[in-house]
Amino acid sequence: MSSRSAEVEQPKPRTVVHKFGGTSVADAERYRHVAKLLLARDEEVQVTVVSAMKGVTDALIELCELAAANRPEWHESWHALRARHRGAAVALLGEAAGPVIEWVDERFQKLEEILNALIVIGGLPELVLQRVQGLGEVCSARLLGEYLTLQGEDCAVLDAREVLRVDHGELGVVVDWEDSARRLAAWRDAHPQRRVVATGFVARDREGRFTTLGRNGSDYSGAIFAALYDAAELHIWTDVDGVLSADPRVVPEAVQLGALSYDEACELAYFGAKVVHPQTMSPAMERGLPIIIRNTFHPEHPGTRITAERDAVGPVKGLTLSADLALLNLEGTGLIGVPGTAERVFAALRNAHVSVVMISQGSSEHSICCVVRASEAAKGQAALLDAFAHELDTRQIQRVQRRDGVSVLAAVGDGMAGTPGVSARLFGALGRAQVNILAIAQGSSERNISVAIDSADATKALRAAHAGFWLSPQTFAIGVIGPGNVGAALIEQLRAAQPQLLAKANLDLRLRAIASSTRMVLEERSLGDDWRARFDASTQAADLDRFTEHLLSAHMPHAVIVDCSASPLVADRYAGWLAAGIHVVTPNKQAGAGPLARYHAIREAASGSGARFRYEATVGAGLPVISTLRDLLDTGDAVVSVEGIFSGTLAWLFNKFDGSAPFSRLVTEARGLGYTEPDPRDDLSGTDVARKLVILAREAGRELALEDVDVESLVPESLRQASVDDFMARLHEVDAGFADRLAKARAAGNVLRYVARLDAEGRASVGLVELPAAHAFANLRLTDNIVQFTTRRYCDNPLIVQGPGAGPEVTAAGVFADVLRVAAGQGAKL
Ligand code: ADP
Ligand code: ASP
Ligand code: MG
Repeated sequence: MSSRSAEVEQPKPRTVVHKFGGTSVADAERYRHVAKLLLARDEEVQVTVVSAMKGVTDALIELCELAAANRPEWHESWHALRARHRGAAVALLGEAAGPVIEWVDERFQKLEEILNALIVIGGLPELVLQRVQGLGEVCSARLLGEYLTLQGEDCAVLDAREVLRVDHGELGVVVDWEDSARRLAAWRDAHPQRRVVATGFVARDREGRFTTLGRNGSDYSGAIFAALYDAAELHIWTDVDGVLSADPRVVPEAVQLGALSYDEACELAYFGAKVVHPQTMSPAMERGLPIIIRNTFHPEHPGTRITAERDAVGPVKGLTLSADLALLNLEGTGLIGVPGTAERVFAALRNAHVSVVMISQGSSEHSICCVVRASEAAKGQAALLDAFAHELDTRQIQRVQRRDGVSVLAAVGDGMAGTPGVSARLFGALGRAQVNILAIAQGSSERNISVAIDSADATKALRAAHAGFWLSPQTFAIGVIGPGNVGAALIEQLRAAQPQLLAKANLDLRLRAIASSTRMVLEERSLGDDWRARFDASTQAADLDRFTEHLLSAHMPHAVIVDCSASPLVADRYAGWLAAGIHVVTPNKQAGAGPLARYHAIREAASGSGARFRYEATVGAGLPVISTLRDLLDTGDAVVSVEGIFSGTLAWLFNKFDGSAPFSRLVTEARGLGYTEPDPRDDLSGTDVARKLVILAREAGRELALEDVDVESLVPESLRQASVDDFMARLHEVDAGFADRLAKARAAGNVLRYVARLDAEGRASVGLVELPAAHAFANLRLTDNIVQFTTRRYCDNPLIVQGPGAGPEVTAAGVFADVLRVAAGQGAKL
């Protein structure tokens, strides 16, 4: 290719090409850093391709657009850009900056002339844009070259427009290798220096006009020069440790990839991974030239090595997102079995210069759809309407639809080939995150699965898919309502378990919001050990709309609201949350035992969206009561009756009530021990027990409402309206009655227990009953709960769940277990 490679006898000097992106050369300080990196290396020939300083290309394009629109702000921008280059020259070269500044001024003078011409033209011809946007690279190469020379290095600066000749073909830029090699050989004869600094991005077309290799094209320049120089390696230096499993700006947990095959790198780059330009790989591929993507700011990191080798690390290496797309869909009964329709679709798009990003056609052939760039969508739609005008007229084709605001998410990896279940994992992760898929494509190389989705879902989808392939922890945004006894205990348990859940199960539970009835605290990442202080100090008024919005705002794939309040108003929100895909976990009995209409709405919302509604802790606190019942039913059993002691408070009172102390004294004692609600009538009235019975009955498939339960309240009519203090003071009024009932029971060899019952006929009652002293319910410890299920299978000997059924710690643990069950249901490895 070059005249040098023809000289067979001479051993080839080891050549390495380096490319530094704009992120590596933002200012004078960075150029110094880059020079230091280069000087520390020992290759025999060193070619360094540089981009414009960070942001300069954007600024140049904007300048052209402003001038073309005759917007006078361009003057200011022009001055600022020139000042930036002059400033960098002075800071970098000090006293030696004079000639470079003069040279910069000349360039900017020319630029000004061009901009003035644009005002006259009143538009922006492509040729002018091509010429202007490469100026940053020309300045950048000169700055670095001069600095290296100032360090006493033998260094030449190459303006790539002197040697590179390219064509703009339909598949991108095509290099005229022969012409370019010939020109480079001539240039090298005149510039034999060991170090060369070359401009990235810029070239000339066949007619000798200035052009560029497309945005981000300096990577491609690096690969072209590596090929022309027959280099041993190409190092692409940027501001991240290499290619990551996803764009780190969207998925902060993205992991660095040690190695990629050329094919994988191409797929990632073509589908939007900005870290390397998609055409970079092809010159390297042909020559087996390794490309190493590495971090200028972390040079000791090995980076990502891109070679022909394939490794089998996981089926999916990385995920990308391409935004600003649209979907075109051609649909009609007349398409079925007609050969050549696809050809006509793509010919129409091709003639309209619309490039197709993705194609999908169902085997029914009833419709054919493709994804195109948003900027070309209207043109594409018009082309299809035109091409199929006759078929539309004759109703052989029903419609040509266009959908804007589309993104394509692609999962890439050589390991997908021949591995079953990869798409299931992708679709599963997206489905659970409530992301709707508009179209799917997988090439038969099986290296890429692409799905078109609504752009509004894009971030969430990328994160969910990333976690779905275990590339990053599965993240849940958690909001807790009601940081009282149970809520606070839950938060503490959650915080304590966070590190272990992350390490062992790759599960990241983020406490992002806490609300009470009056105030709330919202946090971007996750509330820490100081959550209580932060909450107490918060001046933000409670607002459940804001709370919900905040939970959803982080685009985390999953959100869970844990309602630890006892409020019916919060329960009113469940259906809305569930419909929006937010999981709801609660120890609040309001929903499970409240109005049937609300209960049904909640159930429907959950089954519609797939979000989970769990409330294990509403009955028996942390005891597995509801999950046991569900297991029975799910495996085909049928409930005959349910019976039990559902109140820890009432259990304790009647376990203790043996006649040695009056009943009222026991109530006072229980209240002192914190076993009762602040107003003990809440326990003694039986309503709470009745609610639990309603919850179990509904779980068992019975349409029961609280009003249907026959409740025996232990609070006499006369004491129901009194204040709490009054009630406690007058409670002794009940003692005689309880003493009588106890005596009567004892005479028959029985004990008194407050029992809930749902019988085979569906009758529900709660109240004080006499039971034989040997009965299972008569021999419980302290505040133990017991639930006895008689079912078709467990008919002679009922299934019993028994244990401590109250207290903030165990209740919170029950709630927490539900949160983890939700996570497991969403694919967490628990
Ligand atoms: P340079 O100026 O060095 O060419 P770019 O901004 O063009 O840098 O590309 C590097 C940036 O690409 C990174 O800072 C990162 O934010 C982004 N990026 C997008 N996708 C990926 C990915 N999969 N891996 C690494 N970086 C990515
Ligand atoms: N400076 C050009 C751009 O911003 C080329 C590059 O940096 O790769 O697109
Ligand atoms: Mg780049």
